[in-house]
Amino acid sequence: MEREPTSREAVLAKYLEERDKRIRPDGNDQYIEVTGRFASFVEDPYVPPVEREPRSDEVTVAVIGGGFAGLVTGAKLKSAGIDDVVLIEKGGDVGGTWYWNRYPGAQCDTAALIYLPLLEETGHRPTEKYTHGPEILEHCHRIADHFDLYDSALLATEVTGLEWDPDRSRWLVSTDRGDELLARFVTMGTGPLHRPKLPGIPGIETFAGHCFHTSRWDYDYTGGSEDGEPMDRLSDKRVGIIGTGATAVQCIPHLARACGELYVFQRTPSSIDVRNNHPIDPDWFDSLEPGWQDEWLRNFTTLQTGGFADEDLVMDGWTDIAQRIRDRVFAKPDQDFSPASLLQAYHESDDEKMAEIRARVDELVQDPETAAALKPWYRQLCKRPCFHDEYLQAYNEPSTHLVDTDGRGVERITESGVIAGGRHHELDCLIYASGFEVGTDYTRRSGFDPIGRDGVRLSERWADGMQSLHGMHVHSFPNAFIVGFSQAANLISNIPHNLTEAGTTIAAILAHALTVGADEVETTAAAERDWVAKLEAGGRTFGGDPTCTPGYYNFEGHDAGRRGLLNTVGYPDGPLAYFEYIDRWRSSGDFEGLEFRERH
Ligand code: NDP
Repeated sequence: MEREPTSREAVLAKYLEERDKRIRPDGNDQYIEVTGRFASFVEDPYVPPVEREPRSDEVTVAVIGGGFAGLVTGAKLKSAGIDDVVLIEKGGDVGGTWYWNRYPGAQCDTAALIYLPLLEETGHRPTEKYTHGPEILEHCHRIADHFDLYDSALLATEVTGLEWDPDRSRWLVSTDRGDELLARFVTMGTGPLHRPKLPGIPGIETFAGHCFHTSRWDYDYTGGSEDGEPMDRLSDKRVGIIGTGATAVQCIPHLARACGELYVFQRTPSSIDVRNNHPIDPDWFDSLEPGWQDEWLRNFTTLQTGGFADEDLVMDGWTDIAQRIRDRVFAKPDQDFSPASLLQAYHESDDEKMAEIRARVDELVQDPETAAALKPWYRQLCKRPCFHDEYLQAYNEPSTHLVDTDGRGVERITESGVIAGGRHHELDCLIYASGFEVGTDYTRRSGFDPIGRDGVRLSERWADGMQSLHGMHVHSFPNAFIVGFSQAANLISNIPHNLTEAGTTIAAILAHALTVGADEVETTAAAERDWVAKLEAGGRTFGGDPTCTPGYYNFEGHDAGRRGLLNTVGYPDGPLAYFEYIDRWRSSGDFEGLEFRERH
């Protein structure tokens, strides 16, 4: 069994050694777009397109994107009495990431009671602490039903153009189905992780066997279903999977049970903490007082981002590290809360946590060489932390083979398989668990480039990085609202919380605009500039630690400069402070930094 380093310095030296193996000069460019030969990887396999006449009427609000961002925005608008809402979604149904990602074992890492939005409003009780994909997708349907978003929705419809018409103070929304809508307001919730990416491995286009990306799981090939039926068509197949991130960790135990032979090609192991899922007791759930979900959200955000609360309501791997830091600081005789003391407590807690995670690998994986290769050598938050109670054990299946590449990745893909670690592995099927575009331009990911006042394109406005007020309003783009988390709370452990707050804010702004009869709502150039300056000075991004192993959290280990900082920066005082700030901002009724005006 591999020994743990005996000092903090030795741990850090190991982290740097492992990081250096993985830093590549091509950074984000190592990935290729899912186009050309791979275009079929992003087709909609779930709902056949329905013929319909194009629409060319006027609407009050066009909500672009039917994932959680669009759903919560639509719900909040309806609750504010704004009924004429048209939701436009490229998938055949709502659900966003949960519509597309139906791989076996898909499950949310964040506790359902805080992850699933609008639980009190819809009256839904999640069945388990960490719900599985089908239940999350069902909740998306529930939100759309409950808030009457389906009736006017344009599904299987992709927005292709968005252009401001200054004469009418309307957005012209064009789609791939020939629609030409005039929208008084538009909201854009196009999601941070929805364009699959592929590794640019030499020979990738030559593989002649079956292949697909995890975000469009091919159950026709594998057998089984997203509802958990076993994949019964793989028992005579040699299957390879490239990637060991959060997606792969969830589907590998299912593949290990089903495949004749399974080859897992690993570049960097994920950290696998305890999952500890359990059903939610209906009696306990019924005893929760009205307003409970807001309280839970606040409690989680407080603890997960280094704050202090009397109790930990969620009690999971996300809050655990924060609890440890808190306990360490309180245990000090001087209870020193200075930044240096907090940083030291964070490092000590992280060292302890990562040592536990590595020890867990030894406990659960029988083969010592495999166990050694599965140990993560970086701080827990350098990469997306994973939580699973079956993943590591999957490597005890004799038919499951870990092909560790010692940080170098797959060397080449051939017509009949994969070369990794100097060996050729013959395969019938190759699955790409290679993730999604993150560091690419917003407009490339959304698929359209809004044209604002005076013909300015969003891609031009943001050529040197994102510019906004609250991550939502962009000068020169009146009546358009971004639903996201960058340049706002930036709470990555619970994305829907960011989106629900954004939806609430947009509903308040639009209700005000309609009440005062404003034709246009726009942030002033000064407010936008001040906001960006404040954020830049605070410099709070999620990829700051230079010792981190590369990944999409830190621009693949490269310095992304000011542009990268602006694209990922959050409120300097953290997510909780942002949520409190934005609540005050929208409740005051002043909407400082926005101009409400009549048509010019
Ligand atoms: P990731 O980007 O996290 O993982 C991609 C994987 O592909 C990594 O293991 C990467 O290795 C590997 N890879 C890339 N290129 C190569 C190569 N040339 N050779 C070998 N391996 C390679 O994508 P995921 O789909 O796993 O997850 C994306 C995000 O989706 C997560 O971070 C999370 O935010 C979200 N998610 C959330 C879940 C939830 O519970 N809520 C579940 C699943 C996903 P390396 O690490 O070395 O770069």
